[in-house]
Amino acid sequence: MDADVIVMGAGPAGCSAAYYLARRGAAVRLLERGGPGREKTCGDALSPEAMSLLRQMGLAEFCAAVHRIDGSLVFAPNGDCMETFTPEPGAMVERRYLDPALQEQALGAGARLETGAAFRRLCRSEGRVHVETAGGGTFAARYAVLATGCNAAALRGAGLLDGRVGPGAFGRRAYFEGVECPERLIVHSFDPYLLPGYGWVFPLDGGRANVGVAAHCDGAGRLDLKGRFERFVADSFISEKMLARARQASPARTAPLRTGLRGSRGAAHRVLAVGDAVGAAVPSNGEGIPGALITGRLAAEAVLEGLRTGADPARVARAYRRALRRTFGRRMRRARWARRALGHPGFLNRFVRCGRRDRLLADRMCWVLAGVRSPVQLLSPACLKGMLPGTGD
Ligand SMILES: Cc1cc2nc3c(=O)[nH]c(=O)nc-3n(C[C@H](O)[C@H](O)[C@H](O)COP(=O)(O)OP(=O)(O)OC[C@H]3O[C@@H](n4cnc5c(N)ncnc54)[C@H](O)[C@@H]3O)c2cc1C
Repeated sequence: MDADVIVMGAGPAGCSAAYYLARRGAAVRLLERGGPGREKTCGDALSPEAMSLLRQMGLAEFCAAVHRIDGSLVFAPNGDCMETFTPEPGAMVERRYLDPALQEQALGAGARLETGAAFRRLCRSEGRVHVETAGGGTFAARYAVLATGCNAAALRGAGLLDGRVGPGAFGRRAYFEGVECPERLIVHSFDPYLLPGYGWVFPLDGGRANVGVAAHCDGAGRLDLKGRFERFVADSFISEKMLARARQASPARTAPLRTGLRGSRGAAHRVLAVGDAVGAAVPSNGEGIPGALITGRLAAEAVLEGLRTGADPARVARAYRRALRRTFGRRMRRARWARRALGHPGFLNRFVRCGRRDRLLADRMCWVLAGVRSPVQLLSPACLKGMLPGTGD
């Protein structure tokens, strides 16, 4: 037996699972196909919730040193804009810095990392999972955690792909220099040709920014993400204001997102999927790092209980799926509701118009649209008054 648990993929979800498992004494092997400095196509934005989860993993010092974000600047389809603020700060951290910091925490807790080890497929025999890598290596353990992101081949190799559901969204981003944008606000722009979806300018230090577009994918029509990205950079609400003197400093990259706990079977036969592999990103805005960190911890808890009690693996899988539903069911339902609202220009125009008048309403609406608060919050008399036709005009 090589280990108690093999974790495949050392992004946020895999590192979280490895950290919580190793900290409680499990022997953990963490397999990562990329080498040091691997890039992940991401917006690099950490919400207040992500920051709190990172602190719980012992990264308080790291969180104190990163680029602070206080809220967002939102452009409506008609060009109106409003500022909103979060109760706690978020941050911007490039993934080439975040992921190594998370890997270090997992290693510090006792996990063993193998880089250049690409998982290809696995098989099960009595009481074991055997993991095979592309280089011909094999590893055996009592449980495996699949944390390989959106990679459909890896999900298929683990027998967890639900082929009926594809990615919920796609995003394309590049880094820019010489960007003139607010230093402490992330920018969301709902230009009409980006709906249902949005563009963003997320500020980094020294006039650099992560600039991108995201598009929801309902299976209808071509997304033409490249065209949307080029138009957003050249001709949008933000292009003249923020990118007039900017220079693209990296190639633009596109990546898929699995959202709303869809597209994967979650867990079966001693294998548990976490993060994007289980569709833990929020459908409304594509935020996936908090879901990755939380599902990693939930999988670790289910596996630890299985190791401790020697329970039937089917029971462990059921316990994990239950924990996923309990933790994310409501949030994903709200976020699907929000995703529909965010596709309507009329709603967005009113939303921003009302938010400009009433800061509290703006902040509350943004939390609802991110799926973090219940839409019921918008039904309070004060909010309804703010949203009534005639107000804010
Ligand atoms: C364009 C875009 C912008 C986004 N912006 C944000 C944002 O601003 N904030 C936010 O919170 N979320 C954002 N997300 C979502 C976020 O990036 C993901 O939800 C998050 O990275 C999921 O973490 P993960 O660990 O599950 O997967 P990943 O981060 O994808 O990590 C998977 C790891 O597995 C490795 N791997 C893959 N296949 C194999 C294999 N076969 N064998 C071994 N290792 C393998 C990969 O190299 C990688 O290290 C964005 C997503 C996209 C596409």
